[in-house]
Amino acid sequence: MHNWPTEKLSLQAPNLSELASLLDSGLKAYFNHAASSVAACPDLQQAPFHLAASGISGKECIADIGGPPNLHPTPKLDRKYSLLDTMKEMEMNDERGFVLGAGAGPFHVVGMNSELMPNLSYEGSKIRNLTHLAKIGNKDECICEPVPSNSTDFALMANLFGSDGIRGDVIKVVARGRIGKLNVIAAIQEILKTKYGQRPVSIGGVFIIKKGKALLHVMPDFSLDPLEVNQVKDWLRFFEMSAPLVCLTVFHSHDPGLNLRMEHTHCFSDHGEGGHYHNDTTPDEVEYEAYFNTAKVLYRIDQPE
Ligand code: ZN
Repeated sequence: MHNWPTEKLSLQAPNLSELASLLDSGLKAYFNHAASSVAACPDLQQAPFHLAASGISGKECIADIGGPPNLHPTPKLDRKYSLLDTMKEMEMNDERGFVLGAGAGPFHVVGMNSELMPNLSYEGSKIRNLTHLAKIGNKDECICEPVPSNSTDFALMANLFGSDGIRGDVIKVVARGRIGKLNVIAAIQEILKTKYGQRPVSIGGVFIIKKGKALLHVMPDFSLDPLEVNQVKDWLRFFEMSAPLVCLTVFHSHDPGLNLRMEHTHCFSDHGEGGHYHNDTTPDEVEYEAYFNTAKVLYRIDQPE
């Protein structure tokens, strides 16, 4: 295992009922209908979620590994990481653990650059890896499928929410009829920022886009030429993809000086579509259902210079 430098920060997460009532009133400015409450987590292993563990409770934490500076202007191909090693770095329990989130796929396994939807749990030595990736095919199409060779690697960057993977109380959000410009996560970040200011609130979980369509991007293979920041948008491939989409998300309200990626959400599906979430494209029709938990500890691993 490579020993990447890690910084650890304990977080004072607000309690779930405070957050739920804040979102319940706050999201009404962004959606025609929005409601939030503390709820028992549904079994996330079942449809429509298809996650590798049944819940997102127990020893909740977030890790931000690497970052976009590892991708451009030129990819740092020595940045190969392991989800299992990262889970050790996140001081997760020996008996059981679960990570979900968004990152870049293991190019050294896939054969090219890709989007990764980490979704992996373990109980003792038994690993359940339901991680998906999205990549660009020969006809410039999106291919979303399980990771090859049951790989537990990733590259360049990832944002992970870790827990024991057990069911407990979580924040449930339902929202439909988007009336603001912000996507659902950006709206939540805005509400949290307004209330908590410089106190970081860091959250992870899963949401389903149940109806409508969404704009997602998929990274193509690495560019042969160096990519400046303003060229990245032209390099990425954008697609309008259809519900239902399972979206794995990690986000923060405030960066306490760790050069965090403030939001990262990747979606997968069983109809061959998936990638990096930007926003829904059907505001009238869209319907979100989300389950979130708060992180109590933040790990910043291999922070780029
Ligand atoms: Zn992404």
